[in-house]
Amino acid sequence: MIVLGAGFGGLEVASVLSGEMGAEADVTLIDGNDGFTFGFAKLEVLVGRAGVDEVRSPYRDLARPGVRFLRETVTAIDPRQRRVTTDAGEHEAELLVVALGAEYDLDATPGLGRLGSEFYSVAGAERLSRALPEFTAGRAVIGICGAPYKCPPAPSEAALLLDEYLRQRGCRDACSITFVCPSPIPVTSSPEASRALLERFAQRGVEFVGGRRVASLDASRHVAVLDNGDEVGFDLFLGVPRHRAPRVAEPLGLAGDGFVGVDPDTLQTQFPGVYAIGDMVSLPVPKAGMLAEGQGRVVAAALLSLMRGDPPPPPYRGSGSCYIEFGGGEVARVDVDFSGPQPRGTYNQPSAALAADKHEFGSSRLARWFGS
Ligand SMILES: Cc1cc2nc3c(=O)[nH]c(=O)nc-3n(C[C@H](O)[C@H](O)[C@H](O)COP(=O)(O)OP(=O)(O)OC[C@H]3O[C@@H](n4cnc5c(N)ncnc54)[C@H](O)[C@@H]3O)c2cc1C
Repeated sequence: MIVLGAGFGGLEVASVLSGEMGAEADVTLIDGNDGFTFGFAKLEVLVGRAGVDEVRSPYRDLARPGVRFLRETVTAIDPRQRRVTTDAGEHEAELLVVALGAEYDLDATPGLGRLGSEFYSVAGAERLSRALPEFTAGRAVIGICGAPYKCPPAPSEAALLLDEYLRQRGCRDACSITFVCPSPIPVTSSPEASRALLERFAQRGVEFVGGRRVASLDASRHVAVLDNGDEVGFDLFLGVPRHRAPRVAEPLGLAGDGFVGVDPDTLQTQFPGVYAIGDMVSLPVPKAGMLAEGQGRVVAAALLSLMRGDPPPPPYRGSGSCYIEFGGGEVARVDVDFSGPQPRGTYNQPSAALAADKHEFGSSRLARWFGS
């Protein structure tokens, strides 16, 4: 069996299969990167709390029985033959799980490609972390260029962590922070979390521009142009680029929203034996690590029942949680549940206990996925 992508979704599939089948699992896990980094760690990198190497878990440490890791970049997928081409050769398998995440399309927002100012990739967060010490006065704009985007609370967290960073350096009064967000509230799945965030923005002097996205950037005039033509001036732009399915995954078949179409119950693509999970798929659930992980578990259970000749497992019903950094070490959590007729978001207020919970969440995943 081949699993493409060793992120939240792919690592979960591999570790469940390894846990159930041990050395018999026979999983080939392929990723072009040399290590895994949690999405939330990019915010730590952004505000200089951690270096890139401190938050990366190298794949060479992966020690799960029955899982073979190959550092290769996928260049083509033939879903009919379940054949994968990489920069190192070809692989074929009876069963194929594609978990390549979402790709960032900076060029879809005129001006963003040239400016390159985004904090959603590790490299982008690191670049901006080098620019932050120079930013002692002026206008910072956190701007979302299109929905859907990963981890809906993350841009709000960036605004509050930037506020904290500037306060600690004694230059907050000389700086403004504006947050441009396509939805009218910061976290659509939880009005309660959104209320708490909006209250905190008001306390911290963060201006929230809801219901608008950044349509283009004019770097020469230092202006972000919004989708209604309004202009917001910036000296520092922290962008959330438009997301799309990875180009290499297009042969799997795209749904109307440009992400990979899957059966919402089984996460199988239109091709038998080929599954797709995580940020790259078209499902009415947020693009978040815990959701990708839950999808990985459902696919792993389906693969196990196929191999064992058992009845299929229960269908996928999206649920998961997102932690929200409020600054000052305070962490809240939203639990989302998409199993009913209406999505439900339960908000848990910021607390030290939730900060510990988040820490435990990260370390338990690394222990499970890497087997160390
Ligand atoms: C700033 C930020 C904060 C976030 N905070 C949270 C949070 O607090 N909680 C939460 O649950 N989620 C959070 N997320 C979202 C979370 O990181 C993603 O939703 C999650 O990683 C998706 O998992 P995935 O398996 O679909 O993709 P990914 O984890 O992105 O994994 C995809 C993998 O595929 C590999 N890959 C891609 N293309 C190729 C190719 N052609 N060849 C080989 N390998 C390839 C990549 O190297 C990568 O390892 C955050 C994201 C960001 C950006």
